[in-house]
Amino acid sequence: MVKAIVGACWGDEGKGKITDMLAEKADIVIRFQGGSNAGHTIINDYGKFALHQMPSGVFNPNTVNIIGTGVAFNVPYFMKEMSYLVDNGIKNPKILISDRAQLLMPYHIAFDTYEEARLSDKQFGSTKSGIAPFYSDKYAKVGIQVCHLFHEAELMERIEAACTIKNVLLEHLYHQPTLDPKAIFDEVIQYRDMIAPYVVNTAEYLDKAIKEGKEILLEGQLGALKDPDHGIFPMTTSSSTLAGFAAVGAGIPARSIEKVYTVAKAYSSAVGGGAFVSEIFGDEAQELRVRGGDAGEFGATTGRPRRMGWFDCVATRYGCMMQGTTDVAFTAIDVLSYLDEIKVCVGYEIDGVVTKEFPVTPLLEKAKPVYETLEGWKCDVRGITDFNELPEKAQNYVTFVEKELGYPITIVSNGPKRSEIIYR
Ligand code: GDP
Repeated sequence: MVKAIVGACWGDEGKGKITDMLAEKADIVIRFQGGSNAGHTIINDYGKFALHQMPSGVFNPNTVNIIGTGVAFNVPYFMKEMSYLVDNGIKNPKILISDRAQLLMPYHIAFDTYEEARLSDKQFGSTKSGIAPFYSDKYAKVGIQVCHLFHEAELMERIEAACTIKNVLLEHLYHQPTLDPKAIFDEVIQYRDMIAPYVVNTAEYLDKAIKEGKEILLEGQLGALKDPDHGIFPMTTSSSTLAGFAAVGAGIPARSIEKVYTVAKAYSSAVGGGAFVSEIFGDEAQELRVRGGDAGEFGATTGRPRRMGWFDCVATRYGCMMQGTTDVAFTAIDVLSYLDEIKVCVGYEIDGVVTKEFPVTPLLEKAKPVYETLEGWKCDVRGITDFNELPEKAQNYVTFVEKELGYPITIVSNGPKRSEIIYR
């Protein structure tokens, strides 16, 4: 069976934990989009890990982890993560890399930095991992695929073509040193030896695996609101974060995806700019940030303090809808245990009219939250594994949200560890 694990909102919902947990029984875990620009934090028997480019199935010795075609593949970063895993006792993680995945080039990172500097106070708050320049090149057809590393003449030709365009921008727009195609070739050709043992035709591999009925997980990065088509454009990422795209980015038939687990956190947090309707500030935000610990405090990639807010049913329902959710995994309810009362955003007021539909960005900027206030449960809920044993007010919180979303919450996560989970 093929299952996608994707985010409902801005990312940082706890997809890493859910993927790691489901990966215990998975034959294959696939990353299908994004790059090293967002992180997963995973706590399991081996310790605590922050992964960015690696699929979260690397901790299971029987799971094959695939870098899908849709990924922005940063080879040096990938090798760094591989050493980090091996140094921490993860022996020989099983990895396959799509021969059609495209390479994140050193100049993509440079361009990301130059462009943010040029935009100055209008910048996107990019992680400067080269993601936007990478996908721009891919769709402008000046990208370089993994397979080109094994065809030197074509590789050189493609680097020269890319440099011709880039050098004009470097000289006249950014006023930076120009690129030397030969130097880039010499650097990039070293990638070949690093990754050669892992490169395969993943489409054929997956076709066979699906026919054999293997358990396959598609691991999304960020969330629905960061999708460039359906999210809070332009404060989005540059590749699709939706389960619908997972089929494309992995290279499997769309109809093969049977389950979509959409991960939603029991409160909101976001890194980077953009409208955030249920955002809270000051001491109230700081308390939630600190209580959230790893789940709240800092972005896994940038270390930036996250923006905090109450749970947003409007945004999350929309996110679940766009993901084609079959199951909601509702995470981090333990973080809310300190609150006497918990606010939940159930509508947006825009120009005096209340709506439950997630609006386009210019209207989103104007939206004011409409809250309902629920009673807090005021006790520790970690360690509970049966939904009926949760305090009644915690159960109410979950069922209230479920009703607002209109999608079944079948997994409740009440702590960062793999075992801290309630199935409904
Ligand atoms: P992702 O971007 O969706 O993969 O988010 P992460 O995997 O980075 O998760 C954010 C943080 O939440 C990590 O530090 C996790 O360890 C933590 N986390 C996940 N689930 C829970 C939970 O149920 N409770 C608490 N307290 N933390 C959680």
